[in-house]
Amino acid sequence: MKKILSVLLLLCLFLTACSKDGPAETEIFAMDTYMRIRIWGDNDLLHDAVDEIRRLERLFSVTDEDSEVYALNQTGNAELSADTAEILEQAITLSERTAGAFDPTVYPLVSAWGFTTGEAHVLTREELDVLLPLVGTEHLRLEGAAAALTDGAQVDLGGIAKGYTAQKCLELLSEKGVQTAMLSLGGNVQTLGTKPDGTAWIIGIANPEAPSEAIATLTFTGSMAIVTSGGYQRYFDLDGTRYHHILNPETGIPAETGLSSVTILTQDGATADALSTALYVMGMERGIEFWRESNDFEAVFITQSGTIYATEGAAPLLGGCEFEEITR
Ligand code: AMP
Ligand code: MG
Repeated sequence: MKKILSVLLLLCLFLTACSKDGPAETEIFAMDTYMRIRIWGDNDLLHDAVDEIRRLERLFSVTDEDSEVYALNQTGNAELSADTAEILEQAITLSERTAGAFDPTVYPLVSAWGFTTGEAHVLTREELDVLLPLVGTEHLRLEGAAAALTDGAQVDLGGIAKGYTAQKCLELLSEKGVQTAMLSLGGNVQTLGTKPDGTAWIIGIANPEAPSEAIATLTFTGSMAIVTSGGYQRYFDLDGTRYHHILNPETGIPAETGLSSVTILTQDGATADALSTALYVMGMERGIEFWRESNDFEAVFITQSGTIYATEGAAPLLGGCEFEEITR
């Protein structure tokens, strides 16, 4: 009992440690990544934020046998709860918007490559020929809360779930009166409001060659979602070749477009997440074209040769590195 009390005390101390001047803060492991939650103001709400992340993880996981996505993938039919229906609807819309570069039905490929099973395997031409026809949003029907997949098709929300979760979590905190918070869910960062002392947010962009270090920073005030996709975030090496986890849904193989990472800046977390995956698949040239046709996001590209490019709305925020500006 004494032990439990001292653990509880330690936990309370940790949760409130920074609360006097700075934020209350906690770290958890969820959705296969480390997540950090910071809230300025009300420490008690850290628990609400953690609960919300865990709740959404239980719905969206492709590997948790109790999740709604798992049930849909196994049976081809599911009556979904509001969040799963909403994220799927957003995923379909973003897939259409990106002409399939972001595709929530890539799971047959992702799983065959071993990215979720831990059994790394390079797909043969024959295997690709069998799996590729199962990929495409035409295999996924969503009518209200009812979802259906054609035979063999499977959904993977890995390219959008963290962004959606960050968005929902900040909306929940906001409803509960929080004015300032920051979530860092793996490569997904989302801020709410401005810090009470008025100082800017400074968010690092990971160095693809040394991901624990920042290669550049983004400095701004206010609410923003900043999401980075990069081959360096998950991969395996086999016979001297590196195979990463962002697949080109047209070819079924890891997207190789000369990019090391793409960072998207926008207001909505799910949009930022899906677009970072999509632009990584598109590559710089198509990505820039897509940016010119859009007006709701900015981007930072890092090429495999180490050059950094920033769209004209991202450029004024970017620091700590040399870069080329992309104009409209
Ligand atoms: P992200 O890190 O957000 O770019 O998402 C990558 C994850 O999304 C992968 O680990 C897969 O689970 C899934 N994924 C891979 N390729 C795609 C794609 N082209 N469209 C949508 N999701 C993908
Ligand atoms: Mg993504």
